[in-house]
Order: sequence, then C-alpha cells, then structure tokens
Amino acid sequence: MEDYLVKALSGIIGEENVKTDIIDRYCYSMDASIYKSIPDVVVFPQSTEHVSEIMKFANAKEIPVTPRGAGTGLCGGAVPIEGGIVVDLTRMNRILEIDLDNFCVKVEPGVVQNQLNQMLNRYGFFFPPTPGSKKMCTIGGMISTNAGGMTAIKYGVTRNFVLGLKVVLASGEVLSLGGKTLKRSLGLDLIQLFAGTEGTLGIITEALLRIKPLPEETAVIVAPFQDINDATKAVNTVLSHTIPTAIEMLDSGSIKAVNTYMPELNLPEVDAILYFEVGGTYEEVRKQTDLIVETCKTHKSRNIQWTSDPSERQMLWQGREAAGGAIMTLDKRLVRVYEAEDVCVPISKIPEMVKKFQEISKKYGIPVCLYGHAGDGNIHSGILIDVRNQEEWQKLKNLTREVYETAMFLGGNISAEHGIGVLRADWMDRIQGLGLNYIKRIKKVFDPKGILNPGKLGI
Ligand SMILES: Cc1cc2nc3c(=O)[nH]c(=O)nc-3n(C[C@H](O)[C@H](O)[C@H](O)COP(=O)(O)OP(=O)(O)OC[C@H]3O[C@@H](n4cnc5c(N)ncnc54)[C@H](O)[C@@H]3O)c2cc1C
Repeated sequence: MEDYLVKALSGIIGEENVKTDIIDRYCYSMDASIYKSIPDVVVFPQSTEHVSEIMKFANAKEIPVTPRGAGTGLCGGAVPIEGGIVVDLTRMNRILEIDLDNFCVKVEPGVVQNQLNQMLNRYGFFFPPTPGSKKMCTIGGMISTNAGGMTAIKYGVTRNFVLGLKVVLASGEVLSLGGKTLKRSLGLDLIQLFAGTEGTLGIITEALLRIKPLPEETAVIVAPFQDINDATKAVNTVLSHTIPTAIEMLDSGSIKAVNTYMPELNLPEVDAILYFEVGGTYEEVRKQTDLIVETCKTHKSRNIQWTSDPSERQMLWQGREAAGGAIMTLDKRLVRVYEAEDVCVPISKIPEMVKKFQEISKKYGIPVCLYGHAGDGNIHSGILIDVRNQEEWQKLKNLTREVYETAMFLGGNISAEHGIGVLRADWMDRIQGLGLNYIKRIKKVFDPKGILNPGKLGI
C-alpha cells in the first residue's frame, strides 16, 4: 500500500473514511458475480465535493477508481479489476427532497430501493423499478446498470424514471443535468448516456427520480400450463388487451426446485407457471383479473388461483420469489454461478428460447432452472456447477456461448437488465459492432486516462 495514497485520501475525506486493512479490502473485492480483485484502498465519501476531490487526485495520479453501491451486481461491475480506489457510496444515503406536487424525489446514490419505497408509501406514492435485490441495491447502482425487475412491463426500467443527475467526471468536474419537467427536447440527452454505463463515464452523486401514486387495489393470478407454448400464447393475448404490472414465469426445473425447497407450496409440476399482478382502481383490477383468468383458461390453463387479499397475495407470490434461492439448494455439491443468466428475446420466441436452453443444458450435463419476466421476454437462469472441476467451467463457457448465440439468432440480446461488467465484456464487439468504436471514443472524451471503472464494458 502506497503511503502517499492513504495520506492524500485521508486529507480529503478524513482518516475514518479510508479503509486499508486487508480484511476490509477483501470484502470489497467482489460483488454477486464470480469475479474477485482486491482494491488498494476503500473510501467512503459523504458529499459530491468529496467525490470530486477524490477524482481530481486519482486523475492526476492515474489511479483506477471503481464506484460501488451495495455490490449486488451480477456481472462484476463493482469489482476493482485493476485495483486502485473503491468509492463506496452507501454513506451518501439521504433522501433530499420529496416533491409530491411535481411527482418526483431527489436522492443521494446510496439510498436503498426498498428504503425509498418505505418512505414514499407513507405518502401514497412509490418508485416502480423493482429488482429482486430491492432490499439491498442502491439507486446509484440501479441507474448505472439500468436495472429492471418485475414491474418493467408496465412502468419501464430505471432509466425511464431519471429526470436529473449530478455526476462527477474523471477530471473531478461536476455535471448537473436535467430538472423537474417531464418533457425535454434539448438535443443529446446526457442523462440517458450515464444511465446504464456502469460507472465508466462518471460517478452519480445525486438523482432526481419520477414517482407514481400507489394503486388503489392489487391482485395476483397464478396459472399453471402443461405446455409452455400455451403460456406464451396467453401472455400475448393478455398483452393485446391490457398491461399487467408483472408477468412472471417458472419453467419445469424451477418448479421442481421450489417444491424441493418449500414442499408446503406444492406447486403443480407442469411445463410452466405464469404469475400475473395487476393494479389500479377496484374496477380496473376486477376487469383485468377476469380478462387474465379467462384468457389463461382459453389457453388450457387449469387450477388457476387468484386473489386481491394482501396476505393471500403474498402466499401466492412465494413460489416465484423463492425460485432464485431454491435453485441454490437443489444439489449441495454444486454452486450456482451467474453466467448466461439474463438473456432477452422477443416475447413470441420465449418457448423456443426456453426449449433450446433446456436442450443445451442436457447436452453439457449442467443443471439449469429457468424463470423470469415473461412479459418482456427476459429469461433468468440458475446454473449449477461443481466449481472445483475445471472441466465444468469449460463446459459452462461453451453453454454460455450457445445460449447467447441462440438468443441473438432469435432476435434477442445477451443481457436485459444485469449489464455487461466484466462477465460479458468480451461480447461487446459482437453485440455492438461498429458502434463499439464510437462507444470507445465517448469513453475517451469523458475519461481520457481510462481511470473510471477500467476493465468493464469492453472499453
Ligand atoms: C438476488 C439478486 C436479485 C437481483 N434481481 C435483479 C432484478 O430483478 N433486476 C435487475 O435489474 N437486477 C437484479 N439484480 C442485479 C443487481 O441487484 C442490480 O444490478 C442493482 O441495480 C445493482 O445495485 P447495487 O447498488 O448493488 O450496485 P453495485 O453492484 O454496487 O454496482 C453496479 C454497477 O454500478 C456502478 N455504480 C454503483 N453506484 C454507482 C454510482 N453512484 N455512480 C456510478 N456508478 C455506480 C458500479 O461501478 C457497477 O458497475 C439482482 C441481484 C441479486 C443479487
């Protein structure tokens, strides 16, 4: 550890906000992905000025800087691949303003999604983007990965909710972007450029976000299907008439995993189960529920359950919510690794993608359970391997390649909401083509020395 580094950073934000102990640094060497790399130092700024001074110093000395929220990212985005400084933003966690007259809220980047919603719910409002990690993930991380989640089908993804940003650039300059107006036609939109670029162009230190009124009523409908083709047809028919808040899916593997983990749920062992959530006025919810139940029946679903009772709703959701964790417990010798875990295809191609994924899994002898957001074609996978066996890693690499190629062949893409990070960086030239040259040039404009989150996004 270079002494001057610690001294300089302590001078900027105080010794108590600089961690150099190996145990502390080790804890910051990973996120929820398979990657690991130990930073030289971890710092905890508490203001935009702190972040700006840190960046000025790092830029002058050409030290890599990796911004970090809660570290729940699944593709190594917050892993400091080239060492250097990790900037932990979780102590910048204040809700700065709740403006109900203009339906927006101003927050610091370390605010956790669920905490924001607990506060907003008191006023009858909410912030819709809802990743499965909502109890931990931060607003800064969500904007930087353009996080999605279950409600994206109705409300959109995180970038659709960003009205304004404060961003510290590699040089330490501070950009203030956007404002409270809902419409803007002012040429190139830098807010949208920062949303989804995983901390490679700047560090977000403040965000102005749109919020929505809570629905008066909510209902959940759970529909089992013997054939996933029928499930997809049901999704398509429903979407031709109405947009539910969520349309989620479990495949046969995920259903088995949930039943093994929580036998009391006793889910029907079918090809696919769909979970719908609808929200609105009492009238709207009744109408939407009837429509969805009738549509699912028409498409051969049997034993459909539905309810608007809050505790029964929670019980019905349990199957879908348990899936991610249940998969991890399927075989104690195997570990769940996040690879090929976030493909997206046009909705009509879901059955083909699922069948192909299952075939590829059989071909390589690697167990895979599928679940995800059927309303927007986003399929998550739970892949289990013996991590001590090098051959399994090679098989996983081949499986991933085939899955990505299938998704692209079907007109889809390799990540709907988790991002690129390190995990998919090698795929950037294939997915961006000539565009990657321009992306690299944009990176150079914002960060000429390449110090911001190096090793990510293939730039
Ligand atoms: C159990 C589980 C379920 C999940 N479910 C979903 C889901 O349903 N939908 C979904 O989209 N994702 C999901 N994720 C992935 C992850 O939670 C999201 O990507 C989330 O947005 C990451 O937030 P974070 O605060 O943990 O960010 P981190 O992991 O800390 O960082 C993510 C990226 O953002 C950058 N970053 C963080 N803060 C800033 C900042 N202030 N300025 C600039 N860059 C920054 C980091 O450098 C990194 O590149 C899930 C993850 C887990 C573990």
